[in-house]
Amino acid sequence: EFDKTKGQHILKNPMIVKAIIDKSAIRSTDIVLEIGPGTGNLTMGLLEKAKKVIAIELDPRMVAEITKRVRASPYNKNFEVICGDVLHIELPFFDICVSNIPYQISSPLVFKLLTHRPIFRCAVLMFQREFAMRLVARPGSEFYCRLSCNTQLLARVDHLLKVSKNNFRPPPKVESSVVRIEPRNPVPEMNFTEWDGFVRICFMRKNKTLGAIFKQKSIVEMLEKNYVLLREANGEGPDMEEFKVKLGKIVQDFALNDLRGNKMDLDDILNAIAVFNRHGIHFA
Ligand code: SAM
Repeated sequence: EFDKTKGQHILKNPMIVKAIIDKSAIRSTDIVLEIGPGTGNLTMGLLEKAKKVIAIELDPRMVAEITKRVRASPYNKNFEVICGDVLHIELPFFDICVSNIPYQISSPLVFKLLTHRPIFRCAVLMFQREFAMRLVARPGSEFYCRLSCNTQLLARVDHLLKVSKNNFRPPPKVESSVVRIEPRNPVPEMNFTEWDGFVRICFMRKNKTLGAIFKQKSIVEMLEKNYVLLREANGEGPDMEEFKVKLGKIVQDFALNDLRGNKMDLDDILNAIAVFNRHGIHFA
């Protein structure tokens, strides 16, 4: 009766539900967003703490079940459920998001939340363990990747709790972890397309040094194209210096040579982008 294609693994251990709720530190004035409430085991706990819970659930059968369950409780007037795909609807206003999410939407959901405005206080979410490790990985760790630095640019992330698969029914194939995501407020001032373009290049071969990466023909050509187009657009004449040489000098002069994607922290990345941009080199 549970639909695995929708990630329906119901959290059945009340101790884990309680731990998630305790760690969320919900205030009595909070509007809580819950994504994928399923049969409502977490929802009932949230309703005890919050002013209001708004749930978004894809499966109409689950919507019917949870509606019935909440109606039989004292919390009916504090509850709203929206039937739909969370990735395709506009999120309502909320203070905090607490959810045991369907794992297949983890990545787009994190970015939907982090670009949601107004900025919310925090999200406490259950993820597949490996995804959680990548989210919280610090520079130099084996899990550090584009997902880690993109998320950490926009939020503070902390691993809260390991949850083994036998706490779910039916048990998923993978282990799980609960992670806390606290959006940075204000958001760091920067151009996200530049950031993304640069980070993609650095993590494509994340063990390579920038010195090596910025010598690669395909990369030099791509950046040169951007460079020339931008100079033209600004009405500047052609640059007399060969682009490859110019790029090599910048990488050398600003000590970017020995940096590696897997070791760069946020400041290293922002600093490198600023150096390139100052010299008219753009990644978007
Ligand atoms: N939170 C519940 C619990 O712990 O008892 C169950 C969570 S279950 C992992 C995920 C739920 O998300 C399922 O009820 C599934 O129908 C729902 N779901 C799957 N994809 C969804 C989507 N794109 N938008 C909203 N809900 C979705």
